[in-house]
Amino acid sequence: MADYDFDVLVIGSGPGGYVAAIRAAQLGLKTACAESRETLGGTCLNVGCIPSKALLHASELFEEATSGKLAKLGIKTPTVELDLEAMHAQRIDAVKGLTGGIEFLFKKNKVEWLKGHATFTGKDSVKVGDREVRAKNIVIATGSSVTPLPGVEIDQKVVVDSTGALELPKVPEHLVVIGGGVIGLELGSVWRRVGAKVTVVEFLDQLLPGMDGEVRKEAGKLFKKQGMTLKLSTKVTGVQVNGDKATLTVEPSAGGAAETIEADAVLVSIGRRPNTSGLGLEAAGLSTNQRGQIEIDHDFRTSVPGIWAIGDVVPGPMLAHKAEDEGIAVAENIAGLTGIVNHDVIPSVVYTWPEISGVGLTEEQARERTEVKIGKFPMVGNSRAKTNHEPDGWVKVIADAKSDRVLGVWMIASVAGTMIAQAAQAMEFGATSEDIAYTCHAHPTHSEAFKEAAMAVQGKPIHI
Ligand SMILES: Cc1cc2nc3c(=O)[nH]c(=O)nc-3n(C[C@H](O)[C@H](O)[C@H](O)COP(=O)(O)OP(=O)(O)OC[C@H]3O[C@@H](n4cnc5c(N)ncnc54)[C@H](O)[C@@H]3O)c2cc1C
Repeated sequence: MADYDFDVLVIGSGPGGYVAAIRAAQLGLKTACAESRETLGGTCLNVGCIPSKALLHASELFEEATSGKLAKLGIKTPTVELDLEAMHAQRIDAVKGLTGGIEFLFKKNKVEWLKGHATFTGKDSVKVGDREVRAKNIVIATGSSVTPLPGVEIDQKVVVDSTGALELPKVPEHLVVIGGGVIGLELGSVWRRVGAKVTVVEFLDQLLPGMDGEVRKEAGKLFKKQGMTLKLSTKVTGVQVNGDKATLTVEPSAGGAAETIEADAVLVSIGRRPNTSGLGLEAAGLSTNQRGQIEIDHDFRTSVPGIWAIGDVVPGPMLAHKAEDEGIAVAENIAGLTGIVNHDVIPSVVYTWPEISGVGLTEEQARERTEVKIGKFPMVGNSRAKTNHEPDGWVKVIADAKSDRVLGVWMIASVAGTMIAQAAQAMEFGATSEDIAYTCHAHPTHSEAFKEAAMAVQGKPIHI
């Protein structure tokens, strides 16, 4: 240790980085974490998962009050007003509370926060601001940033990225969302619920690329039913800003006649790219792959001994919980323990209404690999969902036809984001659909739909 300032230096304090730093410190390693933002917590806590959920929750309650849903339950709200400033204030409060919480956890665990942008100066040395430090192990957890759309300038006023869309000072009359992925649909839902007309332009023929085909089709129907305009198989070829308005030029993805769409806000959400620029990777002897990611092995080691990488900057789904689990595993590997993440069982959730979630293989992927049995159960047959007036959606269990082992689970349900944890755990334990069908589920809960979908794999659901 004599030559080194730290056993572990983590670059980036997002869910990957801060979790890695805390676990390393818990394991007795002298640890620092470099972060260039003013607050800890990375994209997720500052401009991602947390502020978006604060707005999703508030806007959901607003819509329940304005759409007559509460009135149906006997709760009269004759005058419902939107106080957007207060809605933003509670978002800011949520972020402040949670980022401050990480600062507290760093202090509690004796993780030193090196404030500033970190750049490699060698294989085991990094400059953070004016200070150069040496560390025996360096974990790159620099995360990702918004992918720009060539030729479209983000001004954060009329044309915004996800960060700008979290902070719009007034409800746009017409918001055009470029990209029908998770972030676009979540933020589009927020602004639709509080009164914006929302159009989603998606290059592919369905929303939510990467998800199960049936889920994608159903999601399209649900968002249309809620009043979103979907322009699928359509590409944006230009965005012209005139004052506080924008004109988008779009045409069919396969080519064809162009048309224009007028908007007063445009959200560019076509994906995210790994953060590696300005990191001085060359000084460390590292490079990126064609997608700009840092390649790692099963244990999160890069090609340079002593340098590790996790989270959005490495291949795999860009999700906070994947980054967190990798953070724990990498710290354990550095400490000489065995840290493992099962990348075949990473749940993903779209926090719209209803929520959409999945884990494991899509039906298409499963059918490509083997013969499958499918069980599906609609939420309309679930007593709790019916009582709560939440009839939309279903649960689908995909099992191997021979072994009955569960290969994938997909859900559309009001609380699908919470329900998917059970599916992930079952799969982690190698469960068969029969194991789930014979597990007692509390009544009345939405989770019973999961049990019934598992029973449906055997062709024997009860409530349908
Ligand atoms: C609007 C939005 C909503 C989202 N919602 C969800 C969700 O609900 N659930 C979910 O699972 N995921 C969600 N995500 C994705 C999630 O935020 C990311 O997957 C997650 O934050 C990745 O964690 P990370 O630790 O890899 O990196 P990040 O969280 O991106 O953190 C990296 C940190 O490193 C810092 N950094 C970068 N380079 C340097 C450097 N050279 N020196 C010092 N510091 C540096 C950055 O400032 C940043 O703070 C959302 C993302 C967005 C944008």
